[in-house]
Amino acid sequence: MQSALDTTFDIQQIRQDFPVLHQEINGRPLVYFDNAATTQKPLSVISALTTYYEGYNANIHRGIHHLAEQATAAFEASRRAVQSFINAKQWQEVIFTYGTTDGINLVAQTYGRRFLKEGDEIIISGMEHHSNIVPWQMLCEERGCILKVIPVDDNGELIMEEYEKMLSERTKFVSVVYVSNSLGTINPVETIIQKAHAVGAVVLIDGAQASSHLDIDVQALDADFFVLSSHKLYGPTGMGVLYGKLDLLDKMPPYRGGGEMIKEVTFEKTTYNDSPYKFEAGTPNIADVIAVKAALEFINGLSKEAISAHENDLLQYATERLSDFEGLRIIGQAKQKIGLVSWVMDGIHHQDIGVILDQQGIAVRTGHHCTQPLMQRFGIAGTTRASFAVYNTKDEVDRMIQGLRRVQKMML
Ligand code: PLP
Repeated sequence: MQSALDTTFDIQQIRQDFPVLHQEINGRPLVYFDNAATTQKPLSVISALTTYYEGYNANIHRGIHHLAEQATAAFEASRRAVQSFINAKQWQEVIFTYGTTDGINLVAQTYGRRFLKEGDEIIISGMEHHSNIVPWQMLCEERGCILKVIPVDDNGELIMEEYEKMLSERTKFVSVVYVSNSLGTINPVETIIQKAHAVGAVVLIDGAQASSHLDIDVQALDADFFVLSSHKLYGPTGMGVLYGKLDLLDKMPPYRGGGEMIKEVTFEKTTYNDSPYKFEAGTPNIADVIAVKAALEFINGLSKEAISAHENDLLQYATERLSDFEGLRIIGQAKQKIGLVSWVMDGIHHQDIGVILDQQGIAVRTGHHCTQPLMQRFGIAGTTRASFAVYNTKDEVDRMIQGLRRVQKMML
């Protein structure tokens, strides 16, 4: 069955852009439904990497020779591309990191350690990835802050009345995921931010799952900090972005010390560079930063609107087909979801489901998805998760459903 949006873009042509998709796994054509873990990379991204290494590999910023200037220009062009992608007001607000985890740790270790003190309250949600739990716990342990958690209801939505009750003048920081990587829930982050600001709290939004599916406008959201990972939006691994409002970044101490983040060093005293360089010590991941621009161009070329319409179509189709499946329960039935579906099956461990699907060439993710507290909330050890990207098709969903029938036949 073809997608309703196949008239606006040609899925088969898009698939041609992704070499990794054209292979057989265990004798069957690969179905890649592990996009929430990492998306596959189009040729333009792969080519941006090889072009840099083959054509102008050089260290950036301090060199005056031709290759250094070329590399620096490409690196900074990527920063501008990110600025426009998330609609940041100024390029100085875009800091390159190693990923979402790195960005959250940076904020916890710089803003958190400098400005949060004993008794201050930090609010996160019950559907956070471990990377938006542990850095705050570490900070609370060190500083004596108190961690509060917005509960999740049976549909996998945040209980906003509970959030409102938690907010007070003691709330100093709110750090919440935009889109749950385990359930697909899109959280009402605009409201979360407004309410946090009303009590004077600063807000970080974990945009790891949101950024390839939803339009991101940090100014419209009024987010103080926003983090994302390039590898979840068709870009390279080990590369991410921290957005911060410049007045906050200016007040924050540096994260790591070393080259690039300084203005002047003497043995008596070092003065620090301005943002973003203050937070980018050492030689960065130059090739990957450059390639992220190609990834953003790939997304913009298709349009986020068309991509998410296609993924929503797949979500609807997969949800209908999985709902008909006896002995299968979908975990996460929020009204607003991205193209991601998680489920459990009566009497069958998720790991067995993953292994038997893999034997049929179908890649899904199984386990707790780095959200153990959320799994505890639902009283389960883990789920099987299928997450969709622009290159997936309804035929592939059909293959997965057939695969699940085989799982049942083998296991029950
Ligand atoms: N937050 C969410 C919602 C995620 O889905 C992930 C990765 O799965 C992360 C944070 C961590 O991202 P990274 O491993 O790229 O730092």
